[in-house]
Amino acid sequence: GDGAAIAPIHDYLSELLARFADVEGGSVADYIPELSKADPRAFGIALSTVDGETYSVGDAFQTFTIQSVSKPFMYGYALQRFGREAVLRHVGVEPTGEAFNSIVLDESENRPFNPMVNAGAIAVAELMGGDTQDERIANMGELFSRFAGRPLDINEAVFQSEKATGHRNRAIAYMMLNTGMIERDPEDVLDLYFRQCSINVTCRDLSIMAATLANDGTNPLTGDQIIAPEYVRDVLTVMNSCGMYNYAGQWSYEVGMPAKSGVSGGILAVIPGQVGVSVYAPAIDGHGNSVRGVKVCQAISSEFELHAFHNR
Ligand code: GLU
Repeated sequence: GDGAAIAPIHDYLSELLARFADVEGGSVADYIPELSKADPRAFGIALSTVDGETYSVGDAFQTFTIQSVSKPFMYGYALQRFGREAVLRHVGVEPTGEAFNSIVLDESENRPFNPMVNAGAIAVAELMGGDTQDERIANMGELFSRFAGRPLDINEAVFQSEKATGHRNRAIAYMMLNTGMIERDPEDVLDLYFRQCSINVTCRDLSIMAATLANDGTNPLTGDQIIAPEYVRDVLTVMNSCGMYNYAGQWSYEVGMPAKSGVSGGILAVIPGQVGVSVYAPAIDGHGNSVRGVKVCQAISSEFELHAFHNR
């Protein structure tokens, strides 16, 4: 349950919130017009353990759209459904060194570099099961609801805003149609991808989704086994190398937690076997990462010696 009674962790998160609340810098994403309405002062932190305890402070119950934090979960789903070999035919596992919305595909195979950039995520979106678009939308909604442990819905205004303005993603999808990386109608694939990015979540939800990855793919609140441990390993590996845009290398060096961020200001980080952490603070830096979110994760990593490669 909600572990506010266990004071030390809750107090620590409250202290982090106070410590970084006045940090300036970054700005709210506005290339998707609807995202520019976010309150730049919003700030929430949540932590969930693999035993099912959750701790939430600040605006941890405020709703925002998941954006690219959705990408690891769709990738895990695709691996679970089709296995490594089949999924590797659609998307690689190499960091790009390019921006998240890069149109570049890998030269020898015309394949998107990894599932954490838009091209790779759009290729992965095509792998959602269902005979009709309505079924695919329903299956995707169910997938994310299982990870969060509660029913999630889609922010219709953000979805429409992305669909109306996402011409670069449209260009990526059509180029992948041209190279044979996607086979279905690109408009259907994009429709699903834009809906995926527009799923409403709270910071608390993201911490539970992170804890599900920390817990080998089983949601610690519901006991629901969603993806097999072997595929959780794959998801965490690409999060570690590609999850934080072009800051991924430095993030791994400093923080050492597989993580994923999104342009709405969410960060989800995983300490395997232990906890999931999430931060919501909509002002993002030039890389696309939440400014206060990065600071919170740096503090947690160093203050508890949680870097993955820290020898104990
Ligand atoms: N829906 C956004 C896009 O495709 C996601 C961007 C992100 O969070 O990185 O541009």
